[in-house]
Amino acid sequence: MTVIVVGGGAAGFFAAIHHQTAHPGDTVIIIEKSANLLSKVKISGGGRCNVTHACFTPNELCTFYPRGGKALLGPFHRFQPRDTMAWFESRGVPLKIEADNRVFPVSNNADDIANCLLNEAKTLGIRIWTQCPIQRIQQSKAGHFEVLLTTGATHACDKLVLATGSNRQGHAFAAALGHAIVPPIPSLFTFKIADTALHRLSGLSVQHVAVRLGIGKKNQSTGPLLITHWGFSGPAIIKASAWQAQALHDCGYCCPMTIHWLANMPCPAIEATLKTAISDRQHQTMRSHSPFSDLPNRLWAYLLARWGLALPERWGQLTQKHIHQLSHHLTNDSYQVTGKSPFKDEFVTCGGVALDEVHFTTMESRICPNLYMVGEVLNMDGVTGGFNFQAAWTTGALAGGNY
Ligand SMILES: Cc1cc2nc3c(=O)[nH]c(=O)nc-3n(C[C@H](O)[C@H](O)[C@H](O)COP(=O)(O)OP(=O)(O)OC[C@H]3O[C@@H](n4cnc5c(N)ncnc54)[C@H](O)[C@@H]3O)c2cc1C
Repeated sequence: MTVIVVGGGAAGFFAAIHHQTAHPGDTVIIIEKSANLLSKVKISGGGRCNVTHACFTPNELCTFYPRGGKALLGPFHRFQPRDTMAWFESRGVPLKIEADNRVFPVSNNADDIANCLLNEAKTLGIRIWTQCPIQRIQQSKAGHFEVLLTTGATHACDKLVLATGSNRQGHAFAAALGHAIVPPIPSLFTFKIADTALHRLSGLSVQHVAVRLGIGKKNQSTGPLLITHWGFSGPAIIKASAWQAQALHDCGYCCPMTIHWLANMPCPAIEATLKTAISDRQHQTMRSHSPFSDLPNRLWAYLLARWGLALPERWGQLTQKHIHQLSHHLTNDSYQVTGKSPFKDEFVTCGGVALDEVHFTTMESRICPNLYMVGEVLNMDGVTGGFNFQAAWTTGALAGGNY
């Protein structure tokens, strides 16, 4: 059997390697249009490659995918982050789990992941053709495929794996073979906020915030928040961008947003902390020191100025009414998102081949037999943290046919 894998990224390599491992007698060819193999792997995670996430329970793992979580449940029972880690570690790439459960090579070098895949493909004898743009893919009545290169050469295969990521041409190939494409739009980005006083706090972070957008359905995201020189970033924001990718796209990336600055503190605890400050810091000015260990002093001063409350100068002069006002603003602080900005460590496209047109047991098309689709070409994407590569590894392994 001859197998052609279109796309030399994470999912394409994994599919090729797993197919060749399961069927050593077959001819497996990776066709890559660019000169660079595994280019996203090499730049991923800020050059460290966040290869997966240490979440080993399939039901929980699925909850990190705004699109595709349900479809991935079965596949995760067969190839999950534990398998990914074992796969790379058994091939000489030690991995580490960081405090937030993201998994990286111990070397902090994404090249180690790319080289591992390249070496494995080489050892197995997989043929790799780079700088090989494809003009057309068609299926014969007998179910074989003909892949026409722009050079005019044609190559036939019995099984075709489409692993073209978010590339529009890949979507066009899938559409030509009968598939519906959900229009692609960006996911995983940061928010612009037009407020120069906020921008001056760039670099400050808060560990536990809850972000709510005034659009969409599942609209609360929690986690750390980072202030940047254009607005807000950090896991809570990036997660919100993923879950609300479509709604944010539809509103032109302009919408109201509220922040709960102390998401790990119930309201009575917030009020109690303010009351303690009133009794312990009676003569201190209230703008100079934050009473909350999570809120840096400069952020506290900015927030008080921003809210414009008629507050007294010193802590000892605060009344119960002031406590209510502060507690309200700390837990419902309103901003206006005015645009998006890329998140340099990771970004993905949501949209792609409609998931109900694929068998998630094998990744074979329900519409076009012998066509398999893996990775980001599908309408599936995760939040930041290693989930996007995990989807590529899992679907690639399944398409390879030995799980
Ligand atoms: C800057 C950045 C950092 C990231 N960091 C992380 C991270 O740390 N952790 C994580 O989980 N995810 C990360 N991601 C997301 C992750 O890279 C993708 O989810 C993953 O690469 C998808 O794998 P894929 O193989 O499906 O697609 P891709 O990696 O995009 O590979 C597709 C390949 O197909 C080729 N191709 C496309 N069209 C054709 C064609 N017509 N003919 C032939 N070849 C074609 C492309 O050139 C490419 O090589 C990051 C993304 C970016 C952009």
